[in-house]
Amino acid sequence: MLTSQEILSLAQARQDYMSELRRDIHAHPELGRQEARTQALVLKALTDLGIEAQPIADTGVLGLLRGGKPGKTIGLRADMDALPIQEETGLPYSSQTPGVMHACGHDCHTASLLGAAAILANLRDQLAGNVKFFFQPNEEKDGGAQRMVDAGCLENPKVDAVFGGHSSAGLPVGWYGLKYDKCYAASNTFTVTVTGQGCHGAYPGSGIDPIVTASQIVVAMQTLISRRIYATDSAVVTVGSFHAGVAGNIIPDTAVLRGTIRTLGPEMREKTCRQFRELTEGVAKAMGAEAQVELQESHPGIVNEEGLSQLVNRAMIKLVGEDRVRIAREPNMGTEDFGAFTNRLAIPGCFCSFGYGDGQKDCRFPAHSSRFQLNEGGLAYAAALFVQVTADFLAEEAPSSKSCGSLPAKKEDL
Ligand SMILES: [Zn+2]
Ligand SMILES: [Zn+2]
Repeated sequence: MLTSQEILSLAQARQDYMSELRRDIHAHPELGRQEARTQALVLKALTDLGIEAQPIADTGVLGLLRGGKPGKTIGLRADMDALPIQEETGLPYSSQTPGVMHACGHDCHTASLLGAAAILANLRDQLAGNVKFFFQPNEEKDGGAQRMVDAGCLENPKVDAVFGGHSSAGLPVGWYGLKYDKCYAASNTFTVTVTGQGCHGAYPGSGIDPIVTASQIVVAMQTLISRRIYATDSAVVTVGSFHAGVAGNIIPDTAVLRGTIRTLGPEMREKTCRQFRELTEGVAKAMGAEAQVELQESHPGIVNEEGLSQLVNRAMIKLVGEDRVRIAREPNMGTEDFGAFTNRLAIPGCFCSFGYGDGQKDCRFPAHSSRFQLNEGGLAYAAALFVQVTADFLAEEAPSSKSCGSLPAKKEDL
């Protein structure tokens, strides 16, 4: 197999190929579930490389490269959707679609994975195992990853591990970032409808006030974080919307709260959501009202599996040296739907950061900003890491670990 320096050289030799694809995708951004042009571009690129490719989950693409020898199967993931933002970068390849922009780097994710596919296609005879390419739609909204899983992307051949990453403008080109274990938060959204009994504002005793009840619920929710979870664990409960009533002298029938719960790891997610429901219903009951709680699962969170994370970390060090690998200590309370590929079926997964920054010059604007930019020099390093991780994973004799990071040992639920 190739050395790390040879892999990096091959990736750098593909810089123009990736840059051209990236600029084409950037100029023609598409919102989630509408990625028809990007899908066609990816299908053609994979087919041109001699890789089996098919549409999946409406606007996604599933690619399969069968290695020359039998072995394990790794899934490599990129996302393809853009955001409803009017681009203001002034770049020559700026969005040609008004109000839509690649402001989260998914254009680079797609282009770099195609670059990796091009390199791996040339190495297929040396590969012991298979590589699946997951070009997923709709990461930004309700999650295309789960739809790809539901459509069978992890079967046939069965996937043994999934690897992916996100571009980071805050990390310089030539650097990688990695967070072991709990990496991104899971997200649940909620709607709580508090039903009391409306009456005249001058005679509250003749009714049940849903505004006071909902206010008590909002205050009591704060104790979920301060009193019910361990100080060393992390969770967030935020009420972002509180609506009730139409006039100052009328106590209304209902009050509606909407918000989000962010948790780290499946155990914390289950516990916090359960306690949220118990507390909300219980406070309403104590006030003589009733609370109807609707909790919806959004993104599942990411827990990086230990064995695969170590393999990825070693691959990073081989490519750029230990000094250019940033190991994060804190998880991200934001969300990423990559976890859908790994969590439910307990498949080892690892999600990392690819450096696309330029030391706070053009790339100083945050993701989801209308002036967001990435340094394309990061494409080659992202592609190289996809290839290195694939080569190392398929060359490994035994599975990286039997224990899955998404299913941590159960902590006593006090
Ligand atoms: Zn985003
Ligand atoms: Zn993103």
